[in-house]
Amino acid sequence: FFQNVVQGPEDPILGVTVAYNKDPSPNKLNLGVGAYRTEEGKPLVLNVVRHAEQLIVNDQSRIKEYLPITGLADFNKLSAKLIFGADSPAIQENRIVTVQCLSGTGSLRVGAEFLARHHHRRTIYIPQPTWGNHPKIFTIAGLSVKYYRYYDPATRGLDFRGLLEDLSSAPSGAIVLLHACAHNPTGVDPTNDQWEQIRQLIRSKTLLPFFDSAYQGFASGSLDADAQPVRMFVADGGECFAAQSYAKNMGLYGERVGALSIVCKNADVAGKVESQLKLVVRPMYSNPPIHGAKIVATILKDRDMYNEWTVELKAMADRIISMRKQLFDALQSRGTPGDWSHIIKQIGMFTFTGLNTEQVAFMTKEYHIYMTSDGRISMAGLSSRTVPHLADAIHAAVTR
Ligand code: PMP
Repeated sequence: FFQNVVQGPEDPILGVTVAYNKDPSPNKLNLGVGAYRTEEGKPLVLNVVRHAEQLIVNDQSRIKEYLPITGLADFNKLSAKLIFGADSPAIQENRIVTVQCLSGTGSLRVGAEFLARHHHRRTIYIPQPTWGNHPKIFTIAGLSVKYYRYYDPATRGLDFRGLLEDLSSAPSGAIVLLHACAHNPTGVDPTNDQWEQIRQLIRSKTLLPFFDSAYQGFASGSLDADAQPVRMFVADGGECFAAQSYAKNMGLYGERVGALSIVCKNADVAGKVESQLKLVVRPMYSNPPIHGAKIVATILKDRDMYNEWTVELKAMADRIISMRKQLFDALQSRGTPGDWSHIIKQIGMFTFTGLNTEQVAFMTKEYHIYMTSDGRISMAGLSSRTVPHLADAIHAAVTR
């Protein structure tokens, strides 16, 4: 039956790890995938997560029944509080629907399916560039994907004028995907003032904001500060979507735990929207898994564990910031030509280095350093030990 099936391409991000795994060099370095590593280069399970798992395992009343289609109720409530703020009027007014989904990707996908069925304008504007999975998730759900200008290679910063122009010309009702913080891959976020202007534009043009929040707590180290853009949009009483992931900020990558929230005009609409979300989820995967959601709920509802989490989260964010500084200093000390200050200015897990495809290929071939071909490096994959190797490689790539 399948002899005519052609070989599909490797995923541009996960394919980097496939290539890395095949490389026998002892000096190889994987800066492709956005997963946190310790100073020793090891994956990290947070202490607070281990603690929560112990409590879950020891709970004799634990059962393994199916969760409801919308997931664990406690988890949903706590996730909404985490992103919208404990005192959010929208939560008090019961006009937010939150559904547990399969991490950030699954939350985006469920949101996209809902929009394809129930939104009159099936066009979504996503930033140029953006996380490589975004265009695929929305296209496959049946939305038409357009780009808005976001990054200016000349300044290695935000193309704010381009962004405003492109969103100004979007048709009324169009959906706008916004990275809540720590934009992937560029590490460039709007300032608070710029967010306010974006908000005003989106509301005045009656566009629909869809936040992707995959890095809450990773940008600044503060969960509240990183959720500020989302909260600004909810405070004005308007509608919005938010997809949350606990992959990075709780290190729960493979547990696939996340949430989709839809902020509606009122509680009546929210109830109907929830009923339709169930109809989206049921034929896709019936209901989500229990374990990851239990871990998150256990941590979020206990004040001590929550505090312990914020300390561990801040430590991860701080280590990344320190890697930025160390890499910047290493390039300075080598006298590497060019302005590398964007390494310390950019925010979150990634640095968008500005290295081109050829330079990236050179660094992989000669230095066994793996990254996506757009020159994005995961700062979380670096350590004090590997910074000099990376700095040597960048220096060689730009001076050759
Ligand atoms: N959005 C963005 C911008 C991301 O970078 C990621 C993870 N790389 C995700 C969503 C989703 O990740 P996950 O499905 O693992 O939560």
